[in-house]
Amino acid sequence: MPDEGCSHIKSISTVLHAKRHECEECVKIGARWVHLRTCQECGTTRCCDDSPNKRASKHAKESGHPVISSAEPGERWLYCFVDHAFAEY
Ligand SMILES: [Zn+2]
Ligand SMILES: [Zn+2]
Ligand SMILES: [Zn+2]
Repeated sequence: MPDEGCSHIKSISTVLHAKRHECEECVKIGARWVHLRTCQECGTTRCCDDSPNKRASKHAKESGHPVISSAEPGERWLYCFVDHAFAEY
């Protein structure tokens, strides 16, 4: 159920999925990650806040792209960094 207060998640009609199952910034520097998240604005994939480099939330702050989806197999949810809203799809 989309959070009532988040217009960002509500505006998503098609969920973007990871093109490659890797963090595009960590692979460049040989870093590890824990979970992967895909930006719903530009379709790029980065690592979660449990990962040492937390690239997904940094990307959200720097780019202003608020919503990510989980790129983990079997997980179907969206998260908005602006509203801290979570929604399954
Ligand atoms: Zn939102
Ligand atoms: Zn983005
Ligand atoms: Zn990363």
